[in-house]
Amino acid sequence: MYLERLTSILGEDLVLAYPAQFDRYCRDWMGDVTVGCVAVLRPRTTEDVAQAVRTCRDLGLSIVPQGGNTGLVLGGLPDDPARQVILSLERLNRIRKIEPADFSAIVEAGCILQTVKNAVAEKDLFFPLALGAQGSCQIGGNISTNAGGLNVLRYGMMREQVFGLEVVLPDGRIWNGLSALRKDNRGIDLKHLFIGAEGTLGIVTAAAIKLLPRPTKVATGLIAVASLRDAVSIYSLCRSLCSDLMTAFEFLPPSALALAKEAMPTLDYPIAGEHPAYALMEIAGSGLIDIDALMESTLAELYDRGLVLDGVLSSSEKQTRNLWAFREGMIHGIANRGRHLRTDISVAFSRLPDFVGQAESLLGLKLPACQAVSYGHVGDGNVHLDVIPPSDLTEDEKIHVVEAAKDLLFDLVYEFDGSISAEHGLGREKRDDFIKSTPPVTIELLQSIKNAIDPDGIMNPGCQLPRKN
Ligand SMILES: Cc1cc2nc3c(=O)[nH]c(=O)nc-3n(C[C@H](O)[C@H](O)[C@H](O)COP(=O)(O)OP(=O)(O)OC[C@H]3O[C@@H](n4cnc5c(N)ncnc54)[C@H](O)[C@@H]3O)c2cc1C
Repeated sequence: MYLERLTSILGEDLVLAYPAQFDRYCRDWMGDVTVGCVAVLRPRTTEDVAQAVRTCRDLGLSIVPQGGNTGLVLGGLPDDPARQVILSLERLNRIRKIEPADFSAIVEAGCILQTVKNAVAEKDLFFPLALGAQGSCQIGGNISTNAGGLNVLRYGMMREQVFGLEVVLPDGRIWNGLSALRKDNRGIDLKHLFIGAEGTLGIVTAAAIKLLPRPTKVATGLIAVASLRDAVSIYSLCRSLCSDLMTAFEFLPPSALALAKEAMPTLDYPIAGEHPAYALMEIAGSGLIDIDALMESTLAELYDRGLVLDGVLSSSEKQTRNLWAFREGMIHGIANRGRHLRTDISVAFSRLPDFVGQAESLLGLKLPACQAVSYGHVGDGNVHLDVIPPSDLTEDEKIHVVEAAKDLLFDLVYEFDGSISAEHGLGREKRDDFIKSTPPVTIELLQSIKNAIDPDGIMNPGCQLPRKN
């Protein structure tokens, strides 16, 4: 019944009605979870989205918006297949305009992040958001998760890159907040409600984004260090040594390099031998600043102070790609090991070494057969501490171990006053842990906002907050 009505109102072009057509929208990126849905809707315009929302509302269906489906917390996958449609933004993918004079652009939600980065680079401009999934994730997904990534320490998270939004509200109205003004204090800035809302308040259809001049010089290096504690001190020191021009500082344990090599056997180990820890650093700038000299003098200072065991500076694009491939490849290496715990934790930057030290000791004590891999955006106090169960366990046993590891780590996060979601969002995966660990007044405020904007609860029900029914 639903399918006939959806197709007759929206037209066949917008509706994928058969599971064989929409399989790929129903699986998470890791391949751990497969779900069902009534249909997948693929609007081409903002007006199409508004029409789709009104139709679903009239039919009593709820909507799960989906971008590139690279989210890692099950926010873009239905959990009530008989009553939920997936609304994919993939065809709403036009770059409406780039305004070099204003350092801004208006892009539709379904634009792939990499496509936007490339398009503005052609005009000597730069969009700083950078993450491993940038070849697949979409601007609308980045906004809805308030994505972080590799360059947050210099440029901030997605929220800081957004001037304005266009959003289809749960009643089908279009809210046009697409202003590219840099300063506008006319009361409460509504766009912030939709950034990080994971599709629970409306569907982002376009955004006015902030652009920067394109850095023309980038220097990348990998250093070997004695510990995460040393990496944290080095990061603080480097910020002043590099005049705060650092764009990335990623921490990798030796097991991360091995996992990357497992997934991408052609990678070349950049530093001989094995060291206790590594940091991948990048600085960038343009104009008169000699970025290479700045990187070299910084490394020389670190050597003089005895903080670095070994290091390599990239001298070609190929070498730079090889260095970054270790950071990106390790995620695939972990994914290839099958079901595992992925975390996305932040604590105060200064407490990161203590947190990771205690977490790894606890895991060693309670789950000694598991492999813990701690890596991530050290400069943001953000660690991905992933836990891989032994390969000889059954799937059920792995699920059990993953749950035990999660409880143990999250309890420690709360002790450290940290966050269980630094950048990936809550989705459906972390909803219950979030609610359990959050003061009731915060949940009540969030629920009031949800009720005011989406009184029927049709926008991504079950994501972030419990479903009404
Ligand atoms: C290899 C890899 C590396 C990653 N690295 C990082 C990282 O460094 N930092 C980081 O923050 N994340 C990272 N991620 C997670 C993920 O890429 C980001 O969360 C990304 O922003 C999701 O974008 P997406 O388009 O894939 O969204 P989806 O996964 O499709 O959706 C994510 C959420 O947003 C909602 N949504 C999507 N589009 C819209 C829209 N137009 N309107 C309203 N709601 C919408 C969905 O309903 C869902 O709740 C990584 C993922 C992978 C696979």
